[in-house]
Amino acid sequence: MSVADKYSQFGIRPSVSEFAEKICSALSERFEAIDENAECCQLKVIKAMQDNRASEACLLGTTGYGYNDLGRDTLEQVYASLFHTEDALVRPQITCGTHALALALFSNLRPGDELLSPVGKPYDTLEEVIGIRPSQGSLAEYGVTYSQVDLLPDGGFDYEGIRNSINERTKLVTIQRSKGYQTRPTLSVKRIGELISFIKGIKPEVTVMVDNCYGEFVEDIEPSDVGADMVVGSLIKNPGGGLAPIGGYIAGKKKCIENAAHRLTSPGLGKEVGASLGVLPAFYQGLFLAPTVTASALKSAIFAANIYEKLGFAVVPNSTESRHDIIQAVTFGTPEGVIGFCQGIQAAAPIDSFVVPEPWEMPGYDADVIMAAGAFVSGSSIELSADGPMKEPYAVYFQGGLTWPHGKLGIIMSLEYLVRSGVVKESQLVV
Ligand SMILES: *Cc1c(COP(=O)(O)O)cnc(C)c1O
Repeated sequence: MSVADKYSQFGIRPSVSEFAEKICSALSERFEAIDENAECCQLKVIKAMQDNRASEACLLGTTGYGYNDLGRDTLEQVYASLFHTEDALVRPQITCGTHALALALFSNLRPGDELLSPVGKPYDTLEEVIGIRPSQGSLAEYGVTYSQVDLLPDGGFDYEGIRNSINERTKLVTIQRSKGYQTRPTLSVKRIGELISFIKGIKPEVTVMVDNCYGEFVEDIEPSDVGADMVVGSLIKNPGGGLAPIGGYIAGKKKCIENAAHRLTSPGLGKEVGASLGVLPAFYQGLFLAPTVTASALKSAIFAANIYEKLGFAVVPNSTESRHDIIQAVTFGTPEGVIGFCQGIQAAAPIDSFVVPEPWEMPGYDADVIMAAGAFVSGSSIELSADGPMKEPYAVYFQGGLTWPHGKLGIIMSLEYLVRSGVVKESQLVV
């Protein structure tokens, strides 16, 4: 089948699919490097499962209190092995990434402590957790203060500012690996390691937490390999491999995990309770698939960067730079650009392709947000999805793709929609 034939069945015009195919053919070397990294990560996952004797019995769930849940306890050891940490908490009772982060923070901070973010503003939903935007039950309400040091204009760490902001109350430092809804660069694990060394050089007893959302398996080392005391993430992102229907994880120092477990369940109960119900097969198999699923998402992101940079839009990361998470930001500068892109992604979905997304008010966000996702797991952002807040600079954040062919179709469809709405002119489609 010719390129044009393959894609014309989706209503994509030949000029769009042929342009996209030319861009794609130049990416084979990058894709090879991604496959190599996926291989390293896949082997790490298999080794962690073998070393912890993951067995058929581990796939059975428990109900009620969930005492002696072999599968749950073993999976937590698998995560601890994988992240090279003392312990881990991996639970369906952790409802999402924000919840996992809130859990790690609330359980490891006490009234009078200070939380420091040395990498600028944290992810939108954490503003309410911390109390940057006043919210019921925030850390601020419990007397935990917050200080923030922004990145320098060139994206570097403000070492002087960080030194000055560390004080006797600084208890926990939060470092967000991924850019989230910002256009700053994502931090490599190596840079996170440099920052942690600097901070621990000033105050060794401080607890460093890394918001690892979207970063897992993008590199062959994780922040816990470079000194982070806790790494925290969502199972409906990378480590769930598209199969986990819910869940979050915290991997880290024994004390940190104990604190988190006693907050998640109850003082006195900790990790001992928490039935896994029927989710364990999805948690295990999702983790097993996660390295190659993450690789598909990475390829899709790189493809998008190359397409939209070629067409003159600002893209972060750019078409050639190395990747440290699966998010691709494209700045369209106009609401029409953001809307057209998202509607195209939706139109390429296996589920709900006939739905037309519109900007809407969302809990946790301070502007209307448009979200495109035709997902098997509702809200899963390891599946092909795109979203953007309806505010300057009108950037869209694109992520996921359980398979590379689907990611590719989604990006080509987004371009088709942008051509239809006049945001991109057909005459621009030249390589
Ligand atoms: C997605 C994300 C979160 C929050 O996760 P949810 O599951 O959406 O609550 C936090 N931090 C970063 C960097 C994220 O990408």
